[in-house]
Amino acid sequence: MILVLRKTATEQQISAVCDGLKELNLTGHVVRNERGAVISVYEDVSSLPGHLFSRLPGVDKVLRLSPQLSMVTDERLGPVKLNSGVVIGGSRVVIAGPCSVEGRSALLQAARRVREAGADMLRGGAYKPRTSPYDFQGLGEDGLKILQEAREETGLAVISEVMSPDQIEVATRHIDVLQVGARNMYNYDLLKEIGRSGHPVLLKRALSATINEWLSAAEYVLLQGNSKVILCERGIRTFETLTRNTLDLSAVAAVKGLTALPVIVDPSHATGRPDLVRPLSRAAIACGADGLIIEVHDDPSSALSDGEQAINSSELQSIIEDVRAVEKLFPRVEKTHAAFPSESFAPSSEKLTVSGGCCKS
Ligand code: PEP
Ligand code: MN
Repeated sequence: MILVLRKTATEQQISAVCDGLKELNLTGHVVRNERGAVISVYEDVSSLPGHLFSRLPGVDKVLRLSPQLSMVTDERLGPVKLNSGVVIGGSRVVIAGPCSVEGRSALLQAARRVREAGADMLRGGAYKPRTSPYDFQGLGEDGLKILQEAREETGLAVISEVMSPDQIEVATRHIDVLQVGARNMYNYDLLKEIGRSGHPVLLKRALSATINEWLSAAEYVLLQGNSKVILCERGIRTFETLTRNTLDLSAVAAVKGLTALPVIVDPSHATGRPDLVRPLSRAAIACGADGLIIEVHDDPSSALSDGEQAINSSELQSIIEDVRAVEKLFPRVEKTHAAFPSESFAPSSEKLTVSGGCCKS
């Protein structure tokens, strides 16, 4: 960690900072040049809150050299392998299906169609987070049982959303991957419980989450010993109204450089428009996404949720053909281990005077 001191910091303030560090059992070195001073602290301070340092007298900025994401940035993380044999983080995967599980025969039919189109996994919400409490709320456990039946018939691994910790145990009995929806990315009790369950999880980015907040949510799951985390960019809320959200592909490329966890893209919720699903699917794969999750319905006008954005299964088939073509052009690249922005801090080449000792305990 580097503490950048204010230009106006006095010698008295600098030694007060040093005393503050000593009280925390930390050692640091004061580095000065004609423009001011910084204090470097080499110990691991990732578990200490920033205000312990930012409130010391004369401190202007606290630059953490290693962000509080030691699990997410662990290079040993990697592809998520499901019991069904599907690997997310190898060859690109396509997850497809309706927004909600609407009933047994509709879902079984949808499962057959997406499998024929070439999908690797089936989606379908059993617990639905709806903006209006009057809208269809999902079939709950019955929906999970239907998903399990579809898995048994088609062999497709299944994914469905859980919204609260008490839904996890039942869900893990029926489905392969738990989904944390955008509205629940900040539900830390849910994240911790999913971490303890050890079950694979797809973690969607919240509507207005920064990349750091999104990765911190993943850190919650990983800290409980569950490394089977798949990140999902599903569009963020912006000023634009022609699309439901704005697909942030720069986040996908950036996150791929920060973590070895797989990252997939949801072009359906990102755009809210069936005509944009195909071009953005191509773009997502080209920029390095490990796969797609797409809403498919063969009679969108009768869908109980998100009918306005669903594509049909023949459109899905064309998209999967695109995915296979684009992945040949842009094979998956291994993580580049780019630095977090705060890590790019480096002292300038100006003449520096290191006055060690002041902060040493
Ligand atoms: C969904 O997948 O149907 C869903 C509700 O997604 P999100 O949480 O991204 O809005
Ligand atoms: Mn939906």
